[in-house]
Amino acid sequence: MSDKQNLVILGSTGSIGTSTLDVVERNQTRYQVFALVAGRNVARVVEQALKHQPRYVVMGAEDAAKEVTEALNSQQTEVLSGTQAMCDMAAHPDVDIVMSAIVGAAGLLPTLAAVEQGKKVLLANKESLVMSGQLFMDKVKRHGATLLPIDSEHNAIFQCLPDALQKGTSTALDAQGIRKILLTGSGGPFLNRDIDTLADVTVAEAVAHPNWSMGQKISVDSATMMNKGLEFVEAKWLFHCQADDIDVVIHPQSMIHSMVQYIDGSVIAQMGQPDMRTPIAYGLAYPERIEAGVRPLDFADIVDFTFTKPDFNRYPNLKLAIDACRSGQSATTTLNAANEIAVAAFLNEQIGFCDIYRINAEVLERCHLEPLHSVDAIMAQDAQARRLARELITK
Ligand code: NAD
Ligand code: MG
Repeated sequence: MSDKQNLVILGSTGSIGTSTLDVVERNQTRYQVFALVAGRNVARVVEQALKHQPRYVVMGAEDAAKEVTEALNSQQTEVLSGTQAMCDMAAHPDVDIVMSAIVGAAGLLPTLAAVEQGKKVLLANKESLVMSGQLFMDKVKRHGATLLPIDSEHNAIFQCLPDALQKGTSTALDAQGIRKILLTGSGGPFLNRDIDTLADVTVAEAVAHPNWSMGQKISVDSATMMNKGLEFVEAKWLFHCQADDIDVVIHPQSMIHSMVQYIDGSVIAQMGQPDMRTPIAYGLAYPERIEAGVRPLDFADIVDFTFTKPDFNRYPNLKLAIDACRSGQSATTTLNAANEIAVAAFLNEQIGFCDIYRINAEVLERCHLEPLHSVDAIMAQDAQARRLARELITK
């Protein structure tokens, strides 16, 4: 038997998925790919499966799975499809580590399946925590799962925390001498654009992030700063804190990935290149360190190193998300769902850039918000918000 750790990659064909496979390739003595899970990118998943020889490939759609089966024509790799198969992979007894990197609400059920089997879960899919925070964190605790944040900011914060908070033996920030969590964000491509012209933003402009190369949805979220809003909610749950414990700081160079401020005046920051292979490698090997293929930061290259407060007139979605965070689970679930629909409509050129905020705000105002105590209740709330958002778009 091999002592390599078996890895499932949920969302293997995306930006995080491909970066994860890159780190795995550099560390083949430690990790082997057990299953690749993707939506519909047949060509990419076939290429990945030929290289990594996983035991399973799971596709979102049945027709895509059929195409993969034909292309692979392999005895070694079994090809499946659908949500249940994704959950079965994440929960499989032979699996040690699950990378959760499907985009959006589709990531929730497979990620919860991994948590419920007490796996080591590397969480990139922030939407699942935004949708189900309390329930998710309760399950992590109940099933003894190890949850490691991959979102670069949360990974940075995690790295800056004392041991007791990393290990979960304490969950009280103040008892550990922490005053604030400083969540940094670049401000996206429109940090300096004339606010009056934001309505004219094109898809190509919105997805062109100055520092990070990412999937389309998160790129648009970065342009509206909804991404920082979702991360605000994510931080609240991951680090057991309240909205007042978190400040958002704009740092356009993306070299500091976030910071923790202590009561004695110390601020601990994690720095590095804007390259997701750093947090991915950290999560895979924690508490050890491994090669990630990332260029070292050269301080002699740094020209500007600046910080400002976010302007909510420029980023109304950020304000909406922070307010939803204070309001509670039902509001953040609703906002996440509305935003997924609105961003998809913007990417399809059905609505303008500023309509994303208009739809998000209107869905939040009109949706019936009630406490959500089960996965079914969360899914029903999510569906209600999506319906309303679609209605507003077609109107
Ligand atoms: P992406 O669009 O590049 O990739 C998404 C992946 O999810 C693809 O493999 C796609 O096939 C898969 N997928 C989509 N719908 C699916 C479905 N219904 N069933 C199964 N698979 C499905 O996105 P990304 O940029 O890699 O982001 C993935 C997640 O990681 C998101 O939640 C994002 O917020 C988070 N994240 C990404 C970055 C980044 O740098 N890209 C940074 C932090 C957090
Ligand atoms: Mg991030």
